[in-house]
Amino acid sequence: MAEKFDVAVIGSGPGGYAAAIRCAQKGGTIAIIEKEQIGGTCLNRGCIPSKALLASAHILTIAKNASLMGVEIENPKVNWNKMQTRKDAIVAGSGKGLAGLIQSNKIKIFQGQGFVTAKNKIAVEGSNPAQIEAKKIIIATGSVPIEIPAVAFDGKNIISSTEALNLSHIPKSMIIIGGGVIGCEMACIYATVGSKVTIIEAMPNILPFEDEWVGQLLTRELKKIGIDVITGKKAAACEKSDSNVKLSLEDGQTIEAEKVLVSIGRKAFCDSRTIKTLSLEMNPVRDNKSDRPDSESTEAASKAVVSNGMNGSAIKVNEKMQTSAADVYAIGDVVGTTYLAHGAFLEAEVAAENAMGGNACIKDYSLVPRAVYTFPEVASVGKNETRCKQMGIDYTIGRAFFKANGRSLAHNETTGEARVVRDKKTNEIIGITMVGAAVTEMIACARALLGNKEPICEISFAHPTVSEVLKEAWEDAFGISLHTPPKR
Ligand SMILES: Cc1cc2nc3c(=O)[nH]c(=O)nc-3n(C[C@H](O)[C@H](O)[C@H](O)COP(=O)(O)OP(=O)(O)OC[C@H]3O[C@@H](n4cnc5c(N)ncnc54)[C@H](O)[C@@H]3O)c2cc1C
Repeated sequence: MAEKFDVAVIGSGPGGYAAAIRCAQKGGTIAIIEKEQIGGTCLNRGCIPSKALLASAHILTIAKNASLMGVEIENPKVNWNKMQTRKDAIVAGSGKGLAGLIQSNKIKIFQGQGFVTAKNKIAVEGSNPAQIEAKKIIIATGSVPIEIPAVAFDGKNIISSTEALNLSHIPKSMIIIGGGVIGCEMACIYATVGSKVTIIEAMPNILPFEDEWVGQLLTRELKKIGIDVITGKKAAACEKSDSNVKLSLEDGQTIEAEKVLVSIGRKAFCDSRTIKTLSLEMNPVRDNKSDRPDSESTEAASKAVVSNGMNGSAIKVNEKMQTSAADVYAIGDVVGTTYLAHGAFLEAEVAAENAMGGNACIKDYSLVPRAVYTFPEVASVGKNETRCKQMGIDYTIGRAFFKANGRSLAHNETTGEARVVRDKKTNEIIGITMVGAAVTEMIACARALLGNKEPICEISFAHPTVSEVLKEAWEDAFGISLHTPPKR
């Protein structure tokens, strides 16, 4: 006999668990179905483990540079096993906490692969098979890494980010195909702990979804930690031996390394039986390879793609996160909009509200911040200069530099810049991009500044703080930066 619920959520990543908890808070009876570990990609093989390793690598950098700040640390070195154990403990502890949180909201967890068998009906396959009946269904099944057929994953020498987070030893050398967010973050981890890292990016710049200056500034900094960056070239073929991979690029250049990490992006993933049963309308294979959505609406994001109705294409939704099937919503990576955990959180809020009888919608994806945890970090929100040019917006920018910021000098982290984009016609602040230490922590504050038409004197930035860089750039966008000499 089927167990009955108000809402059943398939997938327990940031999209799925957030939607489930919100629905429960609104008084619904909720089921969540998960085929692997609670927490999804983000907690188990994404955001959290990668940031744990990056934090250890960052400490090593600080220790190595401590002498510059008058602190002598003799021969700081990596304990890779300890780094891994610490990362695993953070993931395991958070997973346990999350499972407890879900249960404390009286949400029933079903362990197994869930798929829709008929309208309002879900089957769970696995060691504890089950039948579920739900008035509403939310699909939050996430995404998987994209493969390059000529450089196919073997899980040993040619790996995805999942294996890269769990290597048993530090490889002598690593080629990273793809200079997007995941590729650049992995490069920072491995170069810092001692691998010889080469990034290969097909576009003219790494982080190709950001303005050109961002990729160029980051390239300069990555080179300083020994990373080779090859841009404008594609990997074409590979030859494998037991301990090595020889990679050929399209122009005939060859490079060898112990490991090749393919991180050219992720693609939406959904059980094809669910797609078929519900005759779900799909969007074309939209992946996160080269760009992030900066469209103003889900509809605009949808138009960017073509339908093939198979795994790898994204489920089509409207701005209420409704799919083409009645009473079925889809959120997170499976809809191919942001490929970000906080994008999934946002969509979860909207789907939960609507599944429980409300009327919520997502208006502007460009307001979802983008954050890259490299050395130095990159963060942006709203329209960048590239987007303004594409849209024919007459804009001006305000700039400020970390080397002129007191706290950055104190921390010996003086690389970077903040740029604030002002629409000259409306006078509104419409975009902010920052490269520098701790900018991922400042991007929520930057988001709050968007839409303002004048500098707000009442907002007092504590002094000295790194966030004063944002204030300076913002004031500069209006031509009144306190610490910038008058422009001639
Ligand atoms: C290395 C790496 C680093 C990242 N870093 C960041 C970051 O710093 N910040 C950020 O915002 N994003 C980051 N991301 C992206 C982020 O992890 C994803 O955008 C986010 O996890 C998407 O959430 P989701 O809920 O849509 O899907 P997921 O987190 O992928 O969760 C989907 C879940 O559904 C389950 N599932 C799938 N099919 C079924 C089924 N049929 N039945 C039952 N369960 C099923 C899966 O097992 C999975 O647990 C990173 C990704 C990677 C790979």
